[in-house]
Amino acid sequence: MTEDNIYVAGHRGLVGSAVVRQLQRLGHERIVTASRQELDLTVQADVGAFFAAHRPTQVVLAAAKVGGILANSDLPADFIRSNLEIQNNVIEACYRYGVRKLVFLGSSCIYPKFAPQPIPESALLTGLLEPTNEAYAIAKIAGIKTCAAYNRQYGTNFLSLMPTNLYGPGDNYDPRGSHVLPALIRRAHEARVTGQSDLVVWGSGTPRRELMHVDDLASACVFALERLDASDIGECINVGTGIDLTIREIAETVMDAVGYRGRIVFDTSKPDGTPRKVLDVSALRRHGWNARIALVDGIPSAYQDFLARYAQPHARSRPA
Ligand code: GDP
Repeated sequence: MTEDNIYVAGHRGLVGSAVVRQLQRLGHERIVTASRQELDLTVQADVGAFFAAHRPTQVVLAAAKVGGILANSDLPADFIRSNLEIQNNVIEACYRYGVRKLVFLGSSCIYPKFAPQPIPESALLTGLLEPTNEAYAIAKIAGIKTCAAYNRQYGTNFLSLMPTNLYGPGDNYDPRGSHVLPALIRRAHEARVTGQSDLVVWGSGTPRRELMHVDDLASACVFALERLDASDIGECINVGTGIDLTIREIAETVMDAVGYRGRIVFDTSKPDGTPRKVLDVSALRRHGWNARIALVDGIPSAYQDFLARYAQPHARSRPA
């Protein structure tokens, strides 16, 4: 694989930057990237021209418009349109320019709100989606089906990986746009440094979430590039730890990592979202891949990243 020209779309994001780090660790020198200023993935002609110029042999599609529960419910039009445009343009360019393998990244929110737990890949399209992120989920389901359709019609090797909720270096700590873990890291940090007695946690604290360190997903992407083919799996394959915790337990783990000893207060005016979301990861395990980073080890490293990026000594911690 070291001879390959690997294009990582979305290399500045949480997932894409982890994939680039992993490829670099493995000694890959031919990694193709383009910033948003250099290439707007929503413009089909520009994507085609980029592929014509760089001729990637393998592609990881980690570029997407993403966000937490509030961003998803506030901006559904942006979420559905941008994601459909990006994936349509990249998938079509992969076909046109003979890319040997595409790894398309989805999300566990593609599964029905009341799917069996842990969620097997076969739960896809068996029930209604969680309304708070339906627009995003529909776009990602369309991406899976687009990859599958190209594979069937054109014999391409386009794989769809469905990661669980992710966290890690490069995360988004914006209070309204972020997911639960970065949001709680930031809030617990701010509560500690400003001496607050309470930590506000959204919802009831009872929903359960599986959280995976993004370096584990990057390792699964490289595993897929090296060892999986679309013909080995169904239309998509789950990537997760297989372990979930309640939001209350997650908040307590964050408080320990941050060294904050206050009281948890639940803001039940905020949505809970889907009650439980843990993936059945047995299929990828059978192929030989396992997550390695436990939450208790992963959260401190995410907190270090937050401190390095946002918590300057003389400024109040706020994202750029
Ligand atoms: P989801 O997994 O798609 O629902 O997205 P999130 O990661 O945004 O939310 C997961 C759960 O964490 C939901 O039940 C939220 O109500 C809960 N939660 C608790 N505190 C927060 C917070 O500060 N931010 C976010 N985004 N979610 C929170």
